[in-house]
Amino acid sequence: MDEIDQPDCGVSEFSQETLASARKRIQPPASVDTTLVIPAKLFHETLTELRRRSDGRRESAAVLCGRVSDLRWSAEIVRFHHHLCVDHGRLLSINLTEAAKYRLYDELNRMGLRMVAAIHTHPEDWVDLSWIDERNQLCSRLGFWSMVVPWYGHEPWRLHEMGIHIRTTQGWARLTPEQTTKNVLISEAKC
Ligand SMILES: [Zn+2]
Repeated sequence: MDEIDQPDCGVSEFSQETLASARKRIQPPASVDTTLVIPAKLFHETLTELRRRSDGRRESAAVLCGRVSDLRWSAEIVRFHHHLCVDHGRLLSINLTEAAKYRLYDELNRMGLRMVAAIHTHPEDWVDLSWIDERNQLCSRLGFWSMVVPWYGHEPWRLHEMGIHIRTTQGWARLTPEQTTKNVLISEAKC
């Protein structure tokens, strides 16, 4: 079988030891000029589906897409990795194949939207980006966001307990709880 055309996420298996050694602390940015805005309904729908997909036993991921204007990154829709490609239900099931990425890029181009933030779940309360997450590039544009949700997406969903990261010239930086409160808005406006 020609595997190149298969929508397989192609995820390698990693030992717990490897994962533990990948746990390094990501420093906060000196300042954050931009704001991430997620409509409350979209935020709820995204976390509900990630929690369902994680099912208390595996990581799950999605991409929030929308528009960027001035310093405002506004999410409008969500696309889940497990809908974009087959991941075989592995523990680390959050990588997209190149083919799946290009299908998503193409869809967004047609809709006039762009990627705003990646979001994925972690098994416990550790919500920094692992080196696997850092290697898993969806968007390298400065200002792109990456959110990590603890406990496989189980409630309560508190922003200050999530790992909120932003792409800077020095790589990923993790916002402090104060920066998160100031720069990440869950908007009540309809989406
Ligand atoms: Zn991760």
